[in-house]
Amino acid sequence: MKVLVINCGSSSLKYQLIDSETEIALAVGICERIGQDVSVLKHTPNGGEKVVKETSMKNHEVAIQMVLDALTDADHGVIKSLDEIGAVGHRVVHGGEKFAVSSIITDEVIKAIEDCNDLAPLHNPANLIGIRACANLMKGVPMVAVFDTAFHQTMPPKSYLYGLPFDYYDEYKIRKYGFHGTSHSFVSKRMAEFAGLDLENSKIIVCHLGNGASISAVLNGKSIDTSMGFTPLSGLVMGTRSGDIDPSIIEFISKKQNKSLDEIMNLLNKGSGIQGMSEVSSDFRDINEAMDNGNEKARLAFDVFVYRVAKFIGGYVAAMNGVDAIAFTAGVGENDHKVRAEVCEYLGYLGVNIDLDKNMTRGKEVMLTTPDSKVKVAIVPTNEELAIARETVALL
Ligand code: AMP
Repeated sequence: MKVLVINCGSSSLKYQLIDSETEIALAVGICERIGQDVSVLKHTPNGGEKVVKETSMKNHEVAIQMVLDALTDADHGVIKSLDEIGAVGHRVVHGGEKFAVSSIITDEVIKAIEDCNDLAPLHNPANLIGIRACANLMKGVPMVAVFDTAFHQTMPPKSYLYGLPFDYYDEYKIRKYGFHGTSHSFVSKRMAEFAGLDLENSKIIVCHLGNGASISAVLNGKSIDTSMGFTPLSGLVMGTRSGDIDPSIIEFISKKQNKSLDEIMNLLNKGSGIQGMSEVSSDFRDINEAMDNGNEKARLAFDVFVYRVAKFIGGYVAAMNGVDAIAFTAGVGENDHKVRAEVCEYLGYLGVNIDLDKNMTRGKEVMLTTPDSKVKVAIVPTNEELAIARETVALL
């Protein structure tokens, strides 16, 4: 079956058409600046040249129509007719406590996703726009929602509750949810296979280190803890997000600089992290270059990032009473050998021993540890679109 995977943001829409039998992405693309005067569609058929089209996409329905046109185009299309699309898999950011697994999309499911809008006001409404637009344009094609939060719904209360009065959980469902669940699920399963572990009897730590970054503790195939929380702002220091800070800092900044809550939240989400600390960039390629040129703030930002990753790993080893394997994934985890090497330097107490030559690998699945290492460490590339396509097919 051919599955169209849609990841809809407020002004962008990423897509892949995946053949579920071969697991090959027949086409990948993105619509950017939806709703603005000039929008862009970038469409790359498998093995073909990237096609870039500048046009106006006044809303997501227009964008999806353009995607469908590109997929069936005589020149750069990959299917003859839309009838070949057997299903659509939608990435949905927040499923709250309602969704512990993916769901076939019905009116009730749409309503339940809507009920979670409060928890992800920037993301869920955009995801719903994508779902409704596809429903209008592809009548009768089954659709599945795959939630970023679902994999972490197995966390026990001692892991997901904050030290707040219980009422805040009861009344408003304020708790840790965790994100990047599709990636943590995909990578932990693959890590078990790759390391020759029985998933049902394994202790795996997944380090999803990208522009957004999170770590999870996966015990016997189930997430028992993760570093992101009520929102994707907490945990690790990220590209532009602060990660964990003392909440009192918010009040302090507000008084010192007379900033509103919105301004401070914007600062914590978009002006902090690696970008804010280094004053160079949120991108680790730039940070590495700046470090090579002796930039001390870049080095400091890098050190803070690595130290935080190492501490979360240590915490999750304690939570699981051990660890069999650690996986590095996403943009930084798959590509930045220095991050991996320096994190692993902190893990000597676990008997982690990596082969520094193998660690120079970029973006490919590879076991980094030497045969005598007590814990296996590997690069396991994530593939959230493929995971969504698999979930979609499995459900249907
Ligand atoms: P993601 O959010 O998973 O797409 O990751 C994007 C981030 O990966 C970028 O912002 C960079 O910090 C990082 N990244 C990508 N390629 C490299 C590379 N070759 N070396 C170091 N970091 C990289």
